[in-house]
Amino acid sequence: SRRGLALKKSKQKNKEIFDYTKLKMSKTITQKEVINGEVQTTQYLKTDLLGKGGFAKCYKMENLSTKKVYAAKTVVKKTLLEGDKKEKLDREISIHSSLSHPNIVDFYYNFEDKENIYIMLDLCSNKSLFELLRRRGRLSEMEVRCYTAQIVQALIYLKQSKVLHRDLKLANLFLDEKMQIKLGDFGLATRICSPKDRRRTICGTPNYIAPEIMDPKIGHSYSADLWALGVVMFTLLTGRPPFQASTLDATYSKIKRLDYRFPTMCNHSKECKDLISKIFSKESNRIQLEDIMDHDFFNKKYPDLMPNSTLLCPPSIS
Ligand code: ADP
Repeated sequence: SRRGLALKKSKQKNKEIFDYTKLKMSKTITQKEVINGEVQTTQYLKTDLLGKGGFAKCYKMENLSTKKVYAAKTVVKKTLLEGDKKEKLDREISIHSSLSHPNIVDFYYNFEDKENIYIMLDLCSNKSLFELLRRRGRLSEMEVRCYTAQIVQALIYLKQSKVLHRDLKLANLFLDEKMQIKLGDFGLATRICSPKDRRRTICGTPNYIAPEIMDPKIGHSYSADLWALGVVMFTLLTGRPPFQASTLDATYSKIKRLDYRFPTMCNHSKECKDLISKIFSKESNRIQLEDIMDHDFFNKKYPDLMPNSTLLCPPSIS
């Protein structure tokens, strides 16, 4: 019938549109390397866009011979001509490639072609704590124990490696397929030369900035990453950032005054409030990273990893 034919045609058209976009989205990327004087090529299939950052886009990329799938952080070379962007990316690559820890996004290797630089990372298929919190509203104390314990391991390792992350936040705490925490994005990271060495650049994301970062006379060090961990914990526990205010200045002034409040209706435990207060202290009184896991907050049982079901629903026992 005529209607049947029209339907078939429109379906065909849709199929064409579908195939076309897919074709447009996927692209073969060739990595050329000279090994022992010989040019070796590796082909990748670049497909889904995983996310966009400040100056990078992250795509799923599959090595066509090994079938291994990566998250490829892709930076257009042309954008690196401005200012000190090239040095910054080189620093990110140099720091991230030197790290290896179960709670840090694995860095495999980097290469470039005519247009782009590719940084091949472990694909974190369950996105980040940011998306998790958006879906769930807030998390149980047991989940916060489980995630915090993993983040603390990553921070202890970074301290041993003399690296400050400086951008610890929900969106940089990725979850792999097993729901294991992987700290990523070393775009603001820096190396600390000696224990007395203090950084003075004001950087990071406003809600996560420690009071000492705002004072370049004092400078900041490892305990600023610990402060940001406190912000992550509070936000996961309550569903809102601790020092949120209507303007940036108001946020900074709240941070300086250590002015935050737990919502009364949520019934948080006294151990959890106590740990948060020991993190949200002036740097000289702040709890040490190495002492966090001995705090009473971790005395209750919690699993090593949360089940995948908690991506959508609270855990059955909490
Ligand atoms: P930028 O340094 O430009 O901010 P990011 O490193 O934050 O770039 O990456 C941009 C986005 O790509 C992230 O917000 C995230 O959505 C996604 N992304 C980054 N790394 C991974 C990864 N390892 N696995 C999955 N998605 C990732």
